[in-house]
This record gives sequence, C-alpha cells and structure tokens, in this order.
Amino acid sequence: MKNDENNIDSQSLINNWQQVSEQMRQACDKVERQTKDVVLLAVSKTKPAEMIAMLAQRGQAHFGENYLQEAVEKITSLKAQHDRTTIIWHYIGSIQRNKTRDIAEHFDWVQTVERDIIAKRLNDQRPADMSPLNVLIQLNIDNETSKSGCLPEQLPDLIKAIKDYERLQLRGLMIIPAKADTDAFARTKQLFDEIKQRHPELSGWDTLSMGMSGDMTEAIANGSTMVRVGTAIFGARNQL
Ligand SMILES: *Cc1c(COP(=O)(O)O)cnc(C)c1O
Repeated sequence: MKNDENNIDSQSLINNWQQVSEQMRQACDKVERQTKDVVLLAVSKTKPAEMIAMLAQRGQAHFGENYLQEAVEKITSLKAQHDRTTIIWHYIGSIQRNKTRDIAEHFDWVQTVERDIIAKRLNDQRPADMSPLNVLIQLNIDNETSKSGCLPEQLPDLIKAIKDYERLQLRGLMIIPAKADTDAFARTKQLFDEIKQRHPELSGWDTLSMGMSGDMTEAIANGSTMVRVGTAIFGARNQL
C-alpha cells in the first residue's frame, strides 16, 4: 500500500464501526423499521486488507470496493489468509467494458450496472461454479446527463433484459443522488415499489441501496435497505 497516512488505529476503526451501527439502529427506531432490514455495506476503497479483516472478524459481512485492481488484490489475499471468514464483496465503481470479467469472477454483488451490454457481458463471464451474480441497477434519479446511471425512462427495458440472464440475479436499485435533490430517496423508493408490483416474477427484488456516511439517516427513513458507508467507518481515504 503506497499511501497509508490516513489509516486510523484499530481501536478507532472498531469504535467508528460500532457508532455507525448505533446510528443505523437509531435511524430505524425513529421510523419503526427493524434494524435487521437495513444492511451495512462497509466501503473499504483505498484501505488495506488488514482493516477489512479486523471488521470481518467482528461480524461485518458486506464490503464495497470501487477500484478493480486494488479490489482483486485484496479479495485474493483475504481469501488466502482467512478462509473461514466469509466476506460478501460488492463492486460499486464504474464499469469499463473490458473489465467485466474481473467483476464476474471475484464479486458477489455489482451495484453499478447501467447498460444492457455490461449486464450481458457479466452474465456470459460469470463462472458456472459460482452462484448467480447479484445485480443492482444504478439509477440516474436526477436525470443529469453528466452523471452515471441508467435514466429513469430507460429502466423498464433494462429490467426486461437483465431478468432473463440466468447467471445474474436482479436485486434492486442503487442511487447516488445530487445533494440538492432533497426528495431523490422518496422518489426512488416509490419507483422501487412500483417495479416490485409490476414484476411479481422478480423474486429477488429486495434491495434499495441508498445513503452514505452523510445521509444514511434520511435514506433509512425513506426505505433504504442498504447504506454504503466509507469515511464514517474508515476515516479519510488514502490516495491510491
Ligand atoms: C465511496 C463511496 C461510498 C462511501 O462514501 P462515504 O461518503 O465515504 O461514506 C458510497 N457509495 C459509493 C458508490 C462510493 O463510491
């Protein structure tokens, strides 16, 4: 690891993680939701494998990574060292067309699918001896042309394509809303529920990934089932 100056000590890491879990519990209490219905995804990009192992040993199951090469190195070394600790790996970075194989071969989830061409490649490249790759469609809920994600009007066609891929399991939606868009969470929740009603055949449609370090309470109040938290757990990010 080149640049570790921002790495916090292990006690701070554990404390942060417990505080985030407590914040999630309070956010759930406030709106009478059950804590078990919201998953904490620990976003470990730029952080060393040792920090991931430390949380995994205490029961943190889901980890998210954005940079493929860095992620594959960490996944490989953690599998070799800790074969009894199960980590569920989520890819949450942007997907280049020529990098789909690494995602299909190393991850359990991918949250950033926005085009059929990418979904098809992931489906074709998912190894036969692995369970289907869990997929979230990244939705560009603000309709900003500069942003990544599938536009709302393209969503019905993308869902129709992905649900027929046998090596993919479509699980729901992911958003990274613009700060100014104060009701993005509520609009996405509504869309998520409409799709569930319209597609009873989508048996795995159960995940709404929204909320990060700064807005997880609002996201949980609006129906998020998975918050993606980086800095509030790991501290400031390192440079790669
Ligand atoms: C980095 C990242 C996060 C975590 O952001 P924090 O503000 O550090 O909690 C969440 N989601 C995605 C897609 C990210 O890239």
